[in-house]
Amino acid sequence: MDNLTGLRKQINLINNEILKLLNKRAALVQKITMLKNETGTDYYDPMREAEMLSDILNQNKGPLPDELVKEVFSSIFHTALNYMGISNERKLLVGTESEVNLPKLNEMFDIDADIPVVIAGPCAVENFEYLDQVAKALKDNGVKLIRAGAYKPRTSPYDFQGLKEEGLKILHEVSNKYKLYSVTEVVDTRDVYLVQKYADVLQIGARNMQNFELLKEVGLTNKPIILKRGMSASINELIYAAEYIALQGNRNIILCERGIRTFETKTRNTLDISSIPIIKRETHLPIIVDLSHSLGRKDIVNQLAKAVLAAGADGIMVEVHPKPELALSDSKQQLNIDEFRGMLSTIGY
Ligand code: PEP
Ligand code: MN
Repeated sequence: MDNLTGLRKQINLINNEILKLLNKRAALVQKITMLKNETGTDYYDPMREAEMLSDILNQNKGPLPDELVKEVFSSIFHTALNYMGISNERKLLVGTESEVNLPKLNEMFDIDADIPVVIAGPCAVENFEYLDQVAKALKDNGVKLIRAGAYKPRTSPYDFQGLKEEGLKILHEVSNKYKLYSVTEVVDTRDVYLVQKYADVLQIGARNMQNFELLKEVGLTNKPIILKRGMSASINELIYAAEYIALQGNRNIILCERGIRTFETKTRNTLDISSIPIIKRETHLPIIVDLSHSLGRKDIVNQLAKAVLAAGADGIMVEVHPKPELALSDSKQQLNIDEFRGMLSTIGY
C-alpha cells in the first residue's frame, strides 16, 4: 500500500511539472504569435509542426510507442493554437473569407436578380433543328443560358457519344442566333482549348469532378466553370475540387448539385438538398441544382424546383428536348417544351 501511495505521489509531482511546462510553452507560443502579428507572417506553419514532431520522435526512448507520443504532442500543439484563437485549417480561395468581385459571372448568371438562374436545353446536341426549337423557347421565356452536350460521357461505349466538334459548332451558331450564353461539358484536357473556343461556359461533369488535371486546365481559362458534384463525392470533396480550379486563377466557379448515389431506386440519384445551405455557409460560390440528372424523371421536377430554391439555390439546370421520346440520351428525364414552360411558371418566370 505504502508503495502505491509513494508511486501516486510521484505521478502527482510529474503532473504538476507537466502543467508548469505546458503553461511555460503556452507563454512562448503567445510571444511568437505577437511577433508574427508584427511581421504579418502566417500563424500556422505545418512544416514547423512536422519538424518538431520528427525531432520529438527521434528522441523517444520509450516505453511509450511513437504513435502515442505523436498523438500526445499533436494534441499539445493544437491546444496551444486553440488557446491563441488560431485555426490550423487553411483558408480556401473558395471560402467565405476570400470573396472576390466576379463581374463576368454576375453578368451571365444574374446571381443577385430576383428570379433564379435557369440553364436549360437538351442532354446532347443532336441536330440544328432540335436545338433551334429549344433555344427559341428559352428566348421567348426570358431564359439566358442554353445547355447541350457535344461530348457525352456515357455509361456504355456503344451509346451515342455526342457530335463532338460538329455539336460545338451547332451550339455556337444557335446560341449566337438567339443571343444566349452556351454551356457545354468538356471531358478531356485535350479538348479544353477547342470547347472554350465555341462555348461561353464550361461544364465539368459528375464523372470528372476529381479529374484534377482537367480541373487545372479549365482553371487556366477565363470562362465561367460549372462544376458538378460527383455521384459519390462528399461536399468537402466538391469544395476542394473547386479550389483546384480557383488556384489556377479562374475564380468564376459555380457549383452544381446533381444528386448522389444511395440505395434509393425511385430516383436516378438522391437529391441532397442539404448541400445547398452547407455550401452557402462554407463557400462564397453560387450553387445551382441539376434537377434532371438528380431525379432521372420529370413528373416531380416542379416540386423539387421549388424545394431547392427554398433551400437557397441560386438557380436550376433542367433538360429540355422538343421530342423527349426520340432523344438519343436521357429520354425519360427531359421535359418537352410545354412541360418546360409549366416548370418556369411554377418558379415565377
Ligand atoms: C450532363 O449535365 O450532361 C451530365 C452528364 O450530367 P452529370 O455529369 O451530372 O451526370
Ligand atoms: Mn443528360
